[in-house]
Amino acid sequence: MALREILVWPDECLKKKAEEIKDIDLHIVTLAEDMTQTMYAAPGVGLAAPQVGISKQLIILNPQAKTGTGNLMVIINPRIVAGDGKDTETEMCLSVPNVSVDITRHSRVLVKGIDLKGKEIELEADGLIARVIQHEIDHLNGRVILNYASSLKRSIYLKKAQKSKV
Ligand code: ZN
Repeated sequence: MALREILVWPDECLKKKAEEIKDIDLHIVTLAEDMTQTMYAAPGVGLAAPQVGISKQLIILNPQAKTGTGNLMVIINPRIVAGDGKDTETEMCLSVPNVSVDITRHSRVLVKGIDLKGKEIELEADGLIARVIQHEIDHLNGRVILNYASSLKRSIYLKKAQKSKV
């Protein structure tokens, strides 16, 4: 396993739609392992492959990661097939440092995808798990928390990001 670099928005990889995964080969298994190590080291509660520069539809999450408990979930080609209820919470993102945005999302979702063995997954989630899944799937569609922020907040962030590059 190896740590991977977490890309920071506006990196192009964070703005495009990720590719569907057709074969779960060694590259994908290694990617999932590396992402797991990277997420726990950050520390974060979820990570999507585009955040480490791989434009493929793979997300991992463990909403309890910061307390050292909970189960790791790996979902390949995840999609939300049903959503219900609405909740607004403040979110942060490893790829958008030092920014928090209030985002309204479904409070419950039904998610389908496959696991690392190619087995179909069907998951009913609510609470924090539902929120993290929706946040990570946004990454696969080229969306980040700034897409939900005011244009003023976005431009302030961009100015700071440009300055720190120099
Ligand atoms: Zn994120």
